[in-house]
Amino acid sequence: MRTLVWYRGKDLRIADHAPLRDALGHGEVIALFVLDPYFFAPERARELPHRMQVLLDSLRALEANLAQRGSRLWVVAGKSTEVVPRLAARWKVDRVVAHRWVEPFGRERDRRVREALRVPFDVYEGETLVPPGTLRTGAGKPYSVFTAFARAFAAAADIGKPLAAPKTLPPPPDGISAKSVPIPTCESLGITPNANLLPGGERAARARLKHFLDGPAAEYDVGRDRLDRAGTSRLSADIKFGTLSIRTVWTEVERALSRSKAAKSFLNELVWREFTHSTLWDRPELLTEPFRPEFAGFPWSNDEALWSAWVEGKTGYPVVDASARQLLGEGFVHNRARMISASFLTKDLLVDYRRGEAHYMKYLADGDWAQNNAGWQWCAGCGCDAQPYFRVFNPVTQGEKFDPEGDYVRRWVPELERMPAKFIHRPWEAPDAVLRAAGVRLDRDYPRPVVHHSGARNRFLALAEEHLSTT
Ligand code: FAD
Repeated sequence: MRTLVWYRGKDLRIADHAPLRDALGHGEVIALFVLDPYFFAPERARELPHRMQVLLDSLRALEANLAQRGSRLWVVAGKSTEVVPRLAARWKVDRVVAHRWVEPFGRERDRRVREALRVPFDVYEGETLVPPGTLRTGAGKPYSVFTAFARAFAAAADIGKPLAAPKTLPPPPDGISAKSVPIPTCESLGITPNANLLPGGERAARARLKHFLDGPAAEYDVGRDRLDRAGTSRLSADIKFGTLSIRTVWTEVERALSRSKAAKSFLNELVWREFTHSTLWDRPELLTEPFRPEFAGFPWSNDEALWSAWVEGKTGYPVVDASARQLLGEGFVHNRARMISASFLTKDLLVDYRRGEAHYMKYLADGDWAQNNAGWQWCAGCGCDAQPYFRVFNPVTQGEKFDPEGDYVRRWVPELERMPAKFIHRPWEAPDAVLRAAGVRLDRDYPRPVVHHSGARNRFLALAEEHLSTT
């Protein structure tokens, strides 16, 4: 039997790859990646510069990994819905195998490919630990509250052992040909590479996992919220591009930390990820509409000057500004800073969460439709959340609690480098002598707050109450 293994950008590995393993058990194997203009047209690629850089890194690593083991990655340009059926016919494959995608456009792509193929198209689970859409409430409905979902997950999850990476692979069958193109470089797509991004690829991902397990993992439950420490795994892009399978991450953490509080806390975050994927699977409309329908038509004011201040990291709230600059600087934002910043944009500045969501999708190296959408909706108060909309993060007290010495701010907002910890999260309250000693001239070196937090909070709450009372 001849099998076409179709890699699609979220499973760029050879270890714990069920479609590849299955293909190997049945004879000849051809590995394919399609440079679909949906992502790889230069004007599209430039809309996701950081994700594209990590994706290309990971793709090159996969190509090298397959070649080292005796196989080859065919890289072909064109629309997937045309290329896959055409090559499947030309290469006389008996079936096509791939991992399932959760997002609506991936599902539609797969539906069209299946329709056009003359051979079976087998789609494997693996993007999540439990297949999306399988956990249901007693009434047979999708969960809308995380805690209930997590209970159902714990009862149902049967996480097996990850599959080992094959040591060797069969060479591509004789006589097959196609116009295989080189993997593009960032520059060829018009993207300036960002040297601050973490490198992609299976080996780099494994090294990151090991580094985490050898170090911060043991104290994850206490360190994960600290903005000034490297207390989290930084595996999000590896999980996003599948250079590590989610099952590998789960089992390795369980093995290293057994039943500790740190392990429970970390695995709980992976269950959050399951929840976001399951939710998007059941409700694809969430990519454009709020989970809570009563928030549709919310009167966001979308002030352009406030939006620009938030994007550029010039709101006058140091922790919010640090997170905005971290996003542009290294394509990553600490989870706590994502929450503070998203709450600030939506509730203090009254900007539609969808603008923030799109901005994050543009610049996050780990930008993921399900997780990012869920994160933004949760922070805006219109998502799946047991807490009501009136939780509004205070950017000053959050900063003081999770960046007590101000090191996170100092790293990303160098104008405040010499501000003492006491005032670094509220420079406008610093006495003149302190500002002078720190070399900070408010309004010139660093802005005063663009809004007054407690006033903005009250304005949001009043607006939300009024809007919700009329819907
Ligand atoms: P760790 O703390 O080490 O967590 C391990 C893994 O668990 C992460 O890599 C991630 O896969 C998963 N995870 C952690 N926290 C969450 C969470 N709250 N929800 C769902 N999964 C989680 N995560 C993304 O991967 N892509 C996104 O586009 C994304 N956008 C977000 C937007 C907002 C507004 C918010 C509040 C959160 C978003 N998250 C997103 C979730 C979270 O912030 C990141 O997963 C995390 O910061 C990544 O860092 P890490 O790998 O060091 O995480």
